[in-house]
Amino acid sequence: MTKPHDFKTKAIIVRKTKCGEADRILSLLTPDLGLIQGFAKSVRKTKSKLSGHLELLCYSEVSLARGKAIDTITGSQTIQSFLNIRNSLQLSAMAFYACELAYHFSPEEAANPAMFQLLLSTLEELDNGSQPELCLKYFEINLLASSGYKPELRECANCHKKLQATINYYSPESGGVICPNCRNTQIGMPVSVNTVKVLRYIQENSFSSICRLKINREILSELELAIRANIRFVLEKEPKALLWLDSLRLADL
Ligand SMILES: [Zn+2]
Repeated sequence: MTKPHDFKTKAIIVRKTKCGEADRILSLLTPDLGLIQGFAKSVRKTKSKLSGHLELLCYSEVSLARGKAIDTITGSQTIQSFLNIRNSLQLSAMAFYACELAYHFSPEEAANPAMFQLLLSTLEELDNGSQPELCLKYFEINLLASSGYKPELRECANCHKKLQATINYYSPESGGVICPNCRNTQIGMPVSVNTVKVLRYIQENSFSSICRLKINREILSELELAIRANIRFVLEKEPKALLWLDSLRLADL
């Protein structure tokens, strides 16, 4: 979509970068413009009218003026600030992780309404406190799908034969689950029949249906290993917020 000189858009603030003493460059995930960058002048000064409306995670209506190198943020009104997330370290770590992934998986200025809606729903569900761990799994699996990396879960991602009800293997390099035969030539980690079923269920159903799932620790941890490996494979690095998330989990044990 071509941007006019002054424009207004709904946006989630997914990243903030310091720029000089008081300025910031914000990365905004929008429904119709994809990921855009906005220059926020003096936003770090306490008296700035903008500051409260441009915090990380904020869902806001943002006004921008088009610039040569970067657009400048001229106004912002908070729609939802997700207070429950902000009041919990665990939920904050999860939400920052989701924002970091949305940032890395969104090419600049390429509209992806599905990605925007996925992040917004995830923040809303985390804020509601409904099954945060499952909520994050739902986000990760659907993030891969909405950015063109949907893992193949029904047939072998390598030889395309129907997967049998046995131990199969998750292979990010091959683009999904592979059969035991293909495991001889491809890299993959073992996944149980039930883990593959849960992966399919999460990929094919709404979050409200997934909330009703009862998943044991073993499946959850297999699922997490597989999806994290897939995300690491696409990004070619470990998301930074994951370290924080894992350290909080360890402290919680
Ligand atoms: Zn195969």
